[in-house]
Amino acid sequence: MQTVCSDCKGVLFARYDLEQVQQHVSKAALASRVRSMWRYSELLPVKQESNIVTLGEGYTNILPLPKSGRKVGFNHLFMKDDGLIPTGTFKARGMSSAISKCVELGVRKVAVATAGNAGAAMAAYASRAGIESYAYMPRDTPEIIRGQCEFYGAKITLVNGTIADAGKIVDELGVRKSWMILSTMKEPYRVEGKKTMGFEIAEQFEWHVPDVIVYPTGGGTGIVGMWKAFEELEAIGWISEGRRPRLVSVQSSGCAPVVKAFRDGKESCEIWSKAETVAAGLRVPKAYGDYLILKAIRESHGTVIAVSDKEILNAMKELAHTEGLCVCPEGAASYACLPKLQSDGFLDKDERVLLYNTGVGTLYSELIVSQREQA
Ligand SMILES: *Cc1c(COP(=O)(O)O)cnc(C)c1O
Repeated sequence: MQTVCSDCKGVLFARYDLEQVQQHVSKAALASRVRSMWRYSELLPVKQESNIVTLGEGYTNILPLPKSGRKVGFNHLFMKDDGLIPTGTFKARGMSSAISKCVELGVRKVAVATAGNAGAAMAAYASRAGIESYAYMPRDTPEIIRGQCEFYGAKITLVNGTIADAGKIVDELGVRKSWMILSTMKEPYRVEGKKTMGFEIAEQFEWHVPDVIVYPTGGGTGIVGMWKAFEELEAIGWISEGRRPRLVSVQSSGCAPVVKAFRDGKESCEIWSKAETVAAGLRVPKAYGDYLILKAIRESHGTVIAVSDKEILNAMKELAHTEGLCVCPEGAASYACLPKLQSDGFLDKDERVLLYNTGVGTLYSELIVSQREQA
């Protein structure tokens, strides 16, 4: 059971014998493999195939958005849609990987501090594996997400405050109760599952990665995971060197610690006080791996951007109306920021821009209903 570094408390990562992978696996061999994230099994941390706990997560669609692209002035706009994934959010990727590793390590009890979606995904995979699970979440987590978490069989505790407050409780209890803690970046296996987003993007673009990826950032596993994916793909020679995408981190102006730290030239974030946003997955006042998020954005020559909740809700509605996509508010943020990225001159109209939708909109039924009431 690995959590964080015992000396400096920093984030730990799984590493692989990439030379072996390069020698024994070819791009062509992927073609006949399972259409889930487990098609990249040599670059995932589970050793025995029989330990894999899967609901068919990953290998999600990449859709062109020509109409929306024209509207905001981009000729090659795409969305990778993790709305179509077990449990309804991309958290399934990380939990499939982490719970599989827990099975391999003989773990019987797991716990997580969550804004909601990680709890639901943990619960689903833990139940499938026959492992007990405990989720600690803010009292004001969207009701359906909390309900989903309970429905999958987790034991829920509601906490006053944010995911940061939930995190403190889980860290203390975890040691006493010998739980494997699956809180974001506090163990090395979830980020491995998230990494598959980067593998899939590369493979689905036929190994010519897009110029820019716009990604809604909370705890940062997506940004950090994708950056690790591109590093590994470069090391095994599957993508050309020096051609990785620029990463754009989008947050809500109600909770934008990464945006602030990036602009202030800092290497880690200050705690964002009064974190509030409709995009529950982005309500992370200070990510444990903040220094890694900032490093990845900078190394990629990317940027950061904040959008208001109002812009997020408008973007959700617009994507539903014009593209037939019911995305989560976090995913909508990646679309909402495009006009600003364009006016900043960060994007060229002919670049290939990939927006990431991290979950399905119908999980946020209150938001959809409230928009109807306003109309
Ligand atoms: C957790 C979450 C995010 C942010 O996740 P990262 O850890 O920053 O990758 C974005 N969208 C949704 C729907 C989430 O649940």
